[in-house]
Amino acid sequence: MKDSESTLFRDGGEMGALMRSYDWSKSPLGPVTDWPDALKFMIRVLLDCQIPMYIAWGPDLIQFYNDAYSSVLGIKHPEALGNRTQKTWHEIWPTIEPMFANVMHGIPCGFQHMHFIMLRSGHPEDCYFNLSYSPISNLDGTIGGVLATGVETTEIVIREQLLRKQREKLYSRFMQTPAAVAVLKGAELVYELCNPLYLKLIDKDLSIIGKPMMEAIPEIDDETYRINLDVYQTGINYIGNEHPVRLKRDGKIEIAYFNFNIAPLRNTDDQIDGTIVFAYEVTNQVILKINAEKLRADLEKAVKMREEFSSIASHELRTPLTILTLKLKMIEDMVSTVINDFESPELIKKTIDTANNQVDRLSGIVANLLDVTRIQTDSLEFKFERVDVSELVCEVLAGFKEQLEDVECTVNPELCAGLIVTWDRFRIEQVLVNLISNAIKYAPGKPISIQITKLGEKVQIVLQDNGPGIPVGDEAKIFEPYERVNRTKNVFGLGLGLFIADKIIKGHQGRIWAENGKERGAKFIIHLPLSPQKS
Ligand code: ADP
Repeated sequence: MKDSESTLFRDGGEMGALMRSYDWSKSPLGPVTDWPDALKFMIRVLLDCQIPMYIAWGPDLIQFYNDAYSSVLGIKHPEALGNRTQKTWHEIWPTIEPMFANVMHGIPCGFQHMHFIMLRSGHPEDCYFNLSYSPISNLDGTIGGVLATGVETTEIVIREQLLRKQREKLYSRFMQTPAAVAVLKGAELVYELCNPLYLKLIDKDLSIIGKPMMEAIPEIDDETYRINLDVYQTGINYIGNEHPVRLKRDGKIEIAYFNFNIAPLRNTDDQIDGTIVFAYEVTNQVILKINAEKLRADLEKAVKMREEFSSIASHELRTPLTILTLKLKMIEDMVSTVINDFESPELIKKTIDTANNQVDRLSGIVANLLDVTRIQTDSLEFKFERVDVSELVCEVLAGFKEQLEDVECTVNPELCAGLIVTWDRFRIEQVLVNLISNAIKYAPGKPISIQITKLGEKVQIVLQDNGPGIPVGDEAKIFEPYERVNRTKNVFGLGLGLFIADKIIKGHQGRIWAENGKERGAKFIIHLPLSPQKS
């Protein structure tokens, strides 16, 4: 070994030693003393460099490399030293040859994670490098060789590929989850991930990704939004059963029911940075349950109504029947007395009147029961005709003349002359008769007022008495069938009159309701259109 070689290749680790022992005089480059200064200078740099460095020199691209590069070569080391690039890297030569040619023409190049299939372990192997190829110029400016520096990134790339595959696998599993799942980010609840089931449930597509919940589902109810936000803000899981959510599906706003589990998601610093929602739709089950519940309530109501009806009917029907039997017996006795003795004909007349009243009462009860059946079978029909409202009220009042006198009730009607409407005269008369008989029944001896007013396309009828009034809170209840809230002694009734009145008024597209008068007394208000639309 000559002095020049020992100086040039000194301290170069294993590669320095190999270069020192190499017989360069037999190489295409000739003895070291003949080498250009640029090459010698670069070899010094290369041997001192701690990262992989490689030089290909001259037209044959004769190779030099340092210890750090030897692992890149694998089994090609140490044979690669002093050998031609094309020979050592024959398997990747088609890729690198044009790049080396460019560099020899002064055009450097560099790559991130450049992929090669190398045979450095005896079998084809995927390898990746961050590489830089640059020209090495001689002192005269000509290009003498190629300098390659770089680091192998195979491990990083393979790890990333593995991670990507895992992520893809995870994503695909996520997308196939049999429950609807969504991941939301930040306090804005921005959709980060949604599986197809979730999108189907809310009737949206993937365009909601990246949008805050309120923008993605603007129709959502405040309660559902608040629950999601609460989980993010408090970090407390929310488990909801049969939770109603307002959604727009097929262009229509509807309420769907869900079993929910909303959990906070934490980042690596244990800070909450999002939420995950698992939802399972139970709308059908909830609707079935609601219907079953309604059916049960209807059944209960029907049973209660039947029971009430039996008790009321037995009482209401029995009373006039008992009186009738009694009165007929009395007439029988009187008639036989008339024959034997002389009995006052007034007494006979009074007894027959009482009997007739009871027959009327029985007929009224039967008529009411028939109406209830009509209402229940939806066969309450109306015959609309021209009606003079004030005339109708006067006729009804005339019918009550004797009764009003008997109980000493005065009526103060405020009419609206000439007001002509199209109503079912018989049915509206029935409503008025019911209201006036109630006033007589519950407020005997007290004045009654009736007011007719035309309000635009409507007629308002207000009937007020000065009796005990309706107990506060029962104003709507009294329109239910068989509801009797003022069980005043000796005041009989089936609790059907107002129920039937309400149906008649509704059949005219009107409204009837009760209020308690300013002082005392009950106040009934009716609003009826002048000409209801026939349904
Ligand atoms: P009823 O045959 O029992 O009078 P209605 O349906 O006409 O049946 O009335 C229902 C209930 O409303 C009555 O039982 C009574 O409790 C209450 N009510 C109706 N009108 C009056 C009124 N003018 N004053 C006080 N309570 C009334």
